[in-house]
Parts: sequence; C-alpha cells; structure tokens
Amino acid sequence: MFYSPRMSIRFAGMSPTSWRRVRWLMCAVLMGTSTPSFAWSDHTLGTWQALAVMPAIAQAPAVTVESLDSFLAAEDSGLAKLLVQEEEWDQHNVPDYPPRPQALQFQADGPAATRRQRFMTALRINPNCELALFLQMRPGTPPPPGSELPWTEVTTLRHDNTVRNDRFERLQQGESVAVLEVIATASGEPDDGLDIGLWEDNGTPYGRTYGFGKQPFGDPALEFSSQAPFHMGFYHESPIIYKAAGFLRRTYPEYRIHLYQSLAKFALQTRHPYWGWRFAGWALHYVQDLTQPYHATVLPGVSTVRMLWINAVDIGGWHGPKERAIRRVSNRHLALENYQYHRMREAYLHNNPDDALLRALRDTSKDAAQAPWSDTTPRRVVSHQAHAWAERTDRMLVQAVPAKYISDPDYVFEQTEPDIDLAAVLKTVPKKMQDEMTQLVSALMQHFGTQTRTFITSLAEP
Ligand SMILES: [Zn+2]
Repeated sequence: MFYSPRMSIRFAGMSPTSWRRVRWLMCAVLMGTSTPSFAWSDHTLGTWQALAVMPAIAQAPAVTVESLDSFLAAEDSGLAKLLVQEEEWDQHNVPDYPPRPQALQFQADGPAATRRQRFMTALRINPNCELALFLQMRPGTPPPPGSELPWTEVTTLRHDNTVRNDRFERLQQGESVAVLEVIATASGEPDDGLDIGLWEDNGTPYGRTYGFGKQPFGDPALEFSSQAPFHMGFYHESPIIYKAAGFLRRTYPEYRIHLYQSLAKFALQTRHPYWGWRFAGWALHYVQDLTQPYHATVLPGVSTVRMLWINAVDIGGWHGPKERAIRRVSNRHLALENYQYHRMREAYLHNNPDDALLRALRDTSKDAAQAPWSDTTPRRVVSHQAHAWAERTDRMLVQAVPAKYISDPDYVFEQTEPDIDLAAVLKTVPKKMQDEMTQLVSALMQHFGTQTRTFITSLAEP
C-alpha cells in the first residue's frame, strides 16, 4: 500500500471523528467475518494433498489412537511445566498478547476428574468441544459400516442452514491410524468451535474468565465471528491504518501456532504420537489460514489513499463509496473460498488427482527456496506472502469472475443465492476467464502446500 511520511503529517491533522470513522470502516469490513465460510474451507482437503508428497509423513508408521484423558494422565507434570514456559514465550514474543490469568495455570496432580477441563481452560479454548477420536473421510468415501460419527460430535457450531457435507469415522482407543490422516483431520478442527466464545463480551461463562478482553472486531453476538481474530493476522497494514484502527493489532494466530507446535513436540517426544500429530494439525490450521490474502490484508485492492478518501466523503454525507467497498471486499473474499472449496470437493468426488488445484497443493518445486520454519515465519513469511498477493488476487478475481458476483453492490455473496457453487458457474464463462481463475487459485494453493510442508518438516525431523 502507498504510504509516505508527508501523508502522515497531513493525516495527523485528521479530527478524532475522522479517526473514528476510519475505525468504523475497518470494523464494518471485518463484520463480514461472521459467516462460517470465512476461512479456507475444509482445510483437510488441502492438507491431504500437501502432505501426501512428504515421505516422512505419508510413509510414517501408523500410530496408536489415544484418548486425551490418557495422554493428560500420563504427562500432567511435564505439561504443567511446558505451559508455564509457553506463557513466558507468549508474553515476550506475541505483540499485544493478553496474558493468561494466573488462576488458569494448569496444575499437575490436581483432581483427575477435572483434568481435561483444566487443560482446556489453560489453553483458553472452548471447553464445550468434545475432542472426540475421529477421522474425516474423503468426499465420496463413506466411513466403514457402523463407525460413522455424526458431525454434531465433531463441531460445537449449530447453524440451522448447515447441512455439513463432510463425514467422519469414529476411532477407538488403541487402534492404529495413518499419521497423514491424523494431521489432515486435525487441520480442520480449529474451525469446529475451538476458538468460539473466548472473548469477555461473547456471553459465555468461560469467555469472562479467559482474560482476552473484548472481541477486537466482528459482531460479538454472532457465534462464528468470535473466532476470526485468532484465524487472521493483519501484520502488514500501513502505519496510518493501525493509527486509525489499533484493534487490528489484536490478532493471535502466532499464539495458537506456537502453543500447538510446542504441545506437538512435547507429545512426540514423550511417545504420544497420536496427540503429537493431532496438535501439529491444529497448529497447521492457523498457518494455512495466513496464506489466504483476505486473512492477511483488511482491504485488498483498496489503497490507503483511497480508503481515506472513501472515509472523507462518507463524513461529507456520501456513503455509497464506503458501502460499495465493504460489499466488494466481502464478496470477493467469499467468492475465492467458495470456488476453492467446490472445485476441490468435486475433484475428490470424481477421483481426479490431476485437477490443477490438487496438483498445486502437491507441487514441491518452491519448497527448497523456503527457509526452515522459525518462530517468526508466520509473520515474516506466510502472512507477508499472502499480503503481497492481496492486490494481485483482487485484480485477478475481477478478470476471472463475472462482475455480478464480485462487483455488484446489490449482490450479497452466499445470501442472494445461498447455494451458489462458483466452480460450477465458472464452467460456463469464456475459457480465458476459467484459466485466469485456475491460475490464481493454483498459485494460492501452492503457497498453502509449501507452508504446510515447511511447518510439518519442523516436527518430522529427528
Ligand atoms: Zn480458520
């Protein structure tokens, strides 16, 4: 985004009302994060492909399924120490980190009956998640007879319009499962309620005790909106935007990634590989979310100067430009994810591994150029790359998708046509547009695949 020191002098003279309006504009854009489709949809579909080409994972010996209670009972003193170190790391390394209240510290040797709840509280996740033992099935493949787990036991989310397409297999303690399946399944879990209701104004009893403060953006009354600040990372906006909307700094994927990565390492080292890889999958989810340009940039395709102009004319009483900008960003964000989901799902259903998106996820050609994973990778590399692609993504969407879906302020994506399948729609547009879309989403899926493997390599190496 364009920004110069001269601008900062000029904009420093903006009135408090102007700043409030800019803040409001940002808030309004992020309100859109209240719908459940706001994330790469169904991470598991992408993780299967990305890791299928990693021999250390695809050919790893099967691991034994273990319940959370059994893992916690065996390792509670080590976990208590680890979570103290984690808290210290967070306080020193995560900007604007809201410290975990002392009372939530996980204690070793506490009562066994409350151990699971005490552990979940120490992680500050939604205590209503059942953390069942399960695997997600590939689209088109039913679970073995008698082993189907209903989706209501996988997620705490209950949208009346949700007919979840995914199917799940219930696992039993002691059975063997492939590492690839464990990681891929777990990479979808953070969208199933783990981060729901954690803020003090979400009206949940646990949100009031977790110490995260008020929800920084989105509508605190809408269930799904509450997870967004953990699944987005706005690390590369211009200084003037942070000045207007300081709440944008309160996004915490780095906290989640580091916490689950540390738990994964610990569980692997203490010989609980099922939980090691399951925690790894949880961490991976947030890494993958940061590869989505709309999760790493507030207003892709809108320069800082234009944003301030929109704001100025809005103050002057001309509200159209603001409303159009908000609708456009929200529709494009949803259109991108809707297309990605439907196209990938169809490739699985038709057993078509040569689909360009699935191939891109398995494309390792850029892996070697990537530095090994470090604590700064989510911010300096993953979200930076997504941010760098934001304008281009916005431009390419305009070329590839019929204007009705992404540039018409009266069209509300997934509301005007609730069952929209953009992958099907795009089969009817000129070939050039289809190719543009394939090229764009393939590039983004390649980022998803490379970052997935870079992260998992940090755990898979001896
Ligand atoms: Zn997510």
